[in-house]
Amino acid sequence: VIDIQHLSKTFGNNQVLKDINFSVNKGEVVCVIGSSGSGKSTLLRCINLLEKPSGGAIIYNEENILKDEHDIYKYRTRLGMVFQQFNLFNNHDVLSNCTIGQRKVLGRSQQEAEKVAMKYLEVVGMAQYIHAKPKQLSGGQKQRVAIARALSMEPDVMLFDEPTSALDPEMVGEVLKVMKQLAQSGLTMMVVTHEMGFAKEVADRVVFMDKGVIAEEGNPEQIFNHPTQERTKQFLKRIL
Ligand code: ATP
Ligand code: MG
Repeated sequence: VIDIQHLSKTFGNNQVLKDINFSVNKGEVVCVIGSSGSGKSTLLRCINLLEKPSGGAIIYNEENILKDEHDIYKYRTRLGMVFQQFNLFNNHDVLSNCTIGQRKVLGRSQQEAEKVAMKYLEVVGMAQYIHAKPKQLSGGQKQRVAIARALSMEPDVMLFDEPTSALDPEMVGEVLKVMKQLAQSGLTMMVVTHEMGFAKEVADRVVFMDKGVIAEEGNPEQIFNHPTQERTKQFLKRIL
């Protein structure tokens, strides 16, 4: 779906991403792991163009979307993003959170948008809360609404940046369960996570980042049980 080639990102004189190459294939779940500051969020933010990459190419539908003439607005509507901090519209209820984007960006009618929203609110188990405001919800519920909102745009790829890191421990499970279910349904997902259990169980491929480079990538068995790189071994030793 997306092919990243020689991607780099520099903030001032701090090179945060260096020659990143990898692709996300249709139906695949890619988990990105690595220490704090290794560039994981920056990579996701470059992929959805919340940050402008300093160099390289992002190939989507056989076109480099970093070329000036490319319609990045359209490209961005094809990506769903879920953040650590939910970023819900606090003055809108759950249903409205899931319909605004569909109406404003995709031009769907209210009726159509509600139908789609309800479908995904069912998927995340939040259909009975459509009239609640975000402040009435727990963190886990808010994050499930954020996931339904992103899904309502029917993106080609869902990008998750540590979706459970801001949650109380007892709410992590419900969000991971929804994500696992989405993965099994064939959704294409790229997930930055510190949840190694999730990565082990759900990822098709694990990308280990260290200091702005992809130090190692492979299936969970390779990365967690047979890492070949010293830095991967050190990282796993620290966190497992
Ligand atoms: P964490 O696990 O803590 O979320 P991360 O792997 O997501 O870490 P990034 O947030 O991508 O790491 O940050 C990588 C580096 O880029 C850090 O050194 C950070 O200070 C720097 N950085 C990130 N965003 C900016 C910015 N907008 N301006 C300047 N430097 C930035
Ligand atoms: Mg981050």
